[in-house]
Amino acid sequence: MTVNYPEVWDLDTLFPGGSESQELRQHMDDASTKLSGFEESVHQFEVPSAKGDAQKVADLLEQMSLMMKHLSQSGAFIGCLMAQNTQDKKAGILDSESSSLSARFQDSFQKIQQDLAKTEESVWAELLDEGPLRDFTFVLNEWREEAKMLLSEKEESLITALSVDGYHGWSQLYDMLVGEIKVTVTVDGEEKTLSVGQANNLSSHKDAAVRKESYEKLEEAWAEKEEFFAKTLNSIAGFRLETYKKRGWDNPLQEPLHINRMKEETLDAMWGAISKNKQPFVAYLNQKGKLLGKDGLDWYDVDAPVTESTQQFSYQEGAEFILKQFGKFGPELEQFAQQAFEKGWIEAEDRPNKRPGGFCTGLPLSEESRIFMTYSGSMSNVATLAHELGHAFHTYALRPVHSLNRSYAMNVAETASTFAEMIVADAAVKNAQSREEKIALLEDKVQRSVAFFMNIHSRFLFETRFYEERKNGVVPASRLNELMEQAQEEGFAGGLASTHPHFWASKLHFYITYVPFYNFPYTFGYLFSLSVYAKALEEGTGFEEKYMALLRDTAVMSAEDLAMKHLGEDITQQAFWEKGIALCVQDAEEFISLTSAEV
Ligand SMILES: [Zn+2]
Repeated sequence: MTVNYPEVWDLDTLFPGGSESQELRQHMDDASTKLSGFEESVHQFEVPSAKGDAQKVADLLEQMSLMMKHLSQSGAFIGCLMAQNTQDKKAGILDSESSSLSARFQDSFQKIQQDLAKTEESVWAELLDEGPLRDFTFVLNEWREEAKMLLSEKEESLITALSVDGYHGWSQLYDMLVGEIKVTVTVDGEEKTLSVGQANNLSSHKDAAVRKESYEKLEEAWAEKEEFFAKTLNSIAGFRLETYKKRGWDNPLQEPLHINRMKEETLDAMWGAISKNKQPFVAYLNQKGKLLGKDGLDWYDVDAPVTESTQQFSYQEGAEFILKQFGKFGPELEQFAQQAFEKGWIEAEDRPNKRPGGFCTGLPLSEESRIFMTYSGSMSNVATLAHELGHAFHTYALRPVHSLNRSYAMNVAETASTFAEMIVADAAVKNAQSREEKIALLEDKVQRSVAFFMNIHSRFLFETRFYEERKNGVVPASRLNELMEQAQEEGFAGGLASTHPHFWASKLHFYITYVPFYNFPYTFGYLFSLSVYAKALEEGTGFEEKYMALLRDTAVMSAEDLAMKHLGEDITQQAFWEKGIALCVQDAEEFISLTSAEV
């Protein structure tokens, strides 16, 4: 029997007619009306003063949760419209409308948070003790704690107002500065004028001269404007540090750790375990240098291909492969993915005007997800598809959970996705049709470890050190270059022949103002899911139920409690992290032994 899964997603079952949809128009108008009602309820809400107020709080939360679902449903749908066709102007207009509704909602949400924070301690304990609020104990405590960490309502609203131009404005200026940069690189004998993004894509070009030239031209461009970037970075950090100081926060990691619901000890244990185990990856980098015919590996050769993966899979074959591998893990994952393929939840067609990259988005009112990507037949496309299906499965696992208990943090967000990707990537290596193919697939896996353990570690080292120095004043560009080079030396454990001093200027993540320290949660998610994966390999098919229980709890406890409850592991200890790293070390060693004949 040949199956034929649709390659274009079905959005009409959500709102028929795309950006011209009457149903969507109606939904947005309803959202605005509902929001006014919600704002009125929030306005009339008073700080709870007795145990008997629990029901009033619960009613407001219920209204809030419905409002959230209503807004997410249209927000996610509009996101899909914009991704499938970047020329859809109407979708862009709807998106601005949706953003302003969300901003109104956010305002009301903050008011609720502050009212709850003002509740007397004894009343608070009684409110949560039993009755309708008990299920929300974790999130309510978190909201209250957050509000208490802040300054007064008046002061915080002043900071929010000033941050539009004094903080976020710098981040927008960064985007403008980068957008202005153009470099010329000779590719296949032809001189091309490229944007930063296009030139960055050449880092994995098969021609060594192209990789080197694009890197050098970019490095020159960053150097030329380094004072502008240094000013921008110093201003963002300065604003953040001044705000922290006023709030009485001494440690720049306090906010990112809080957002990720984890302890500093846990972070230290993770980096400690990684630092101790860098040698196998240094050996891999050296081997790669030799395979490329060089004495040491330069920064601009890290992404170079050592061999080409040639195996191609049609979309149908890719889908079948994923389903077969998921099936070996557990029936729920397989059945879920099968439904996603059959019901048109996936947009995979390779056609113009689609946005690059991939994502998965949840539509809470219809309890469905949609996956977006561009499938062109490589094994890495198959892995991406599995990754996004993993995200969708996380949402599916959370269905029995109240929507207020579904907001998981960035560090655990990548658990289900990396897990699903790992199932498929591992099977692909095992099923490789040739030695060449196997090397290419294996290298893909090792590259991920190098990115998470070395590159991201160097970003983290740079950022923590920069913040410390920034406390004492502006850090000039020349010093930023030094800090970056030192961090790369350390992050890559001396495994590279050359570093990238202006990396601090080139990496957008340092300039994101909405989330601080946009680095360590990636490494956390990768290693955390690897240890879940190790557990799955150990326990076999019976593990699926436990796995889903873990996913259901991702938004109602700290990272430490989650690991203790579901894995029986203490993640404040290095021993936990070393288990995941050991799996990655195996890949690096296998790569070295497979390629040893060639060097
Ligand atoms: Zn992801």
